[in-house]
Amino acid sequence: MYELKSYAAFDGGSRGRIHEEPEAAMRPAFQRDRDRVIHSAAFRRLEYKTQVFVNHEGDMFRTRLTHSIEVAQIARTIARALCLNEDLSEAIALAHDLGHTPFGHAGQDSLNKCMHDYGGFEHNLQSLRVVDVLEEKYAAFTGLNLSFETREGILKHCSRTNAAMLGPLGERFLNGEQPGLEAQVANIADEIAYNHHDVDDGLRAGLVSLDDLQDVESFREAFAEVTELWPDLAERRVIHEVIRRMINRQVLDLIETSQNTIDQHAPGSIDDVRATGVPLILLSEEASNRHLELKRFLRANLYRHYRVHRMTLKAARIVEALFNVFSDDTRLLPRPARDHMAELEEADGAAGRGRAIADYIAGMTDRFAIAEHERIFSASTLT
Ligand code: MG
Repeated sequence: MYELKSYAAFDGGSRGRIHEEPEAAMRPAFQRDRDRVIHSAAFRRLEYKTQVFVNHEGDMFRTRLTHSIEVAQIARTIARALCLNEDLSEAIALAHDLGHTPFGHAGQDSLNKCMHDYGGFEHNLQSLRVVDVLEEKYAAFTGLNLSFETREGILKHCSRTNAAMLGPLGERFLNGEQPGLEAQVANIADEIAYNHHDVDDGLRAGLVSLDDLQDVESFREAFAEVTELWPDLAERRVIHEVIRRMINRQVLDLIETSQNTIDQHAPGSIDDVRATGVPLILLSEEASNRHLELKRFLRANLYRHYRVHRMTLKAARIVEALFNVFSDDTRLLPRPARDHMAELEEADGAAGRGRAIADYIAGMTDRFAIAEHERIFSASTLT
């Protein structure tokens, strides 16, 4: 094991859990957080939630689960190289998408519209809600009772209005502070992971071609290198060799640039990191520009592809229809969801009712949402 730097998050120096608990016998606090995330029901459901492509379009595409595991892999590499707390970065990476609705961003945007009058819906805040409130498995408390630092990392962004309601966890959004470095690592590992695996999935789905990708400098460069080394290599292997080089370059650049930036600011502790007010985990300007170029390419060619758009449109309709029908007739909700609603309604009236429906829909997998929509609206399934 390497020695943590003074500005890393120390398991023993955590700001603690909401409910006091004795320490685990063998496991440090953040490792325990990681384990609790893995054993959560929301984590298992990530397997059947869309990243970009709806799950049933093929078994080879990323799902939220495999995405989260790739984020954790990248985050751990970076955390270890910078002598930060690997367990914490991993816990945040594995938990970061727990609040995602079915059907990726289409589902979230649709649910946000439905919740317009009730405080909106935001997947990032929902991830926190999952670990704080919605997981019900421990005898002594609701939620997973994770450490402050893990929760701080899960809450990547937050509006000022919502931040004001979150107590100590929301303070940094009001004070212009940063989260700890492990959170910053998980955050950027997320971007590196999805930008590159979306290229891979986009190629596999035939939505973008190797030719199209020659417009992207980082791709073109790695592609030239690989095809010169192995002129007869099968296409699938070329793609993998190119993408692993692209990821590797970004990660190495990130580690070097971040270490230099940390050295310049010389924080003595995680609190110094927070108070610095600017991110210390970052790419060099050149790597960052390349990254932006790739993002722009994906937005124009993949996320706005007509086939992706068609899927998006259908997904939005399903989510909206479910929200409306549950709002109009709450008897359609299964018992646990109705009990949850009764609780929230008592505290918050109509907004509480809306929130309970949003919680229920957000927890659905893609296929469950499709099946539920079918069960409610199709005349041929009168069961
Ligand atoms: Mg993500």
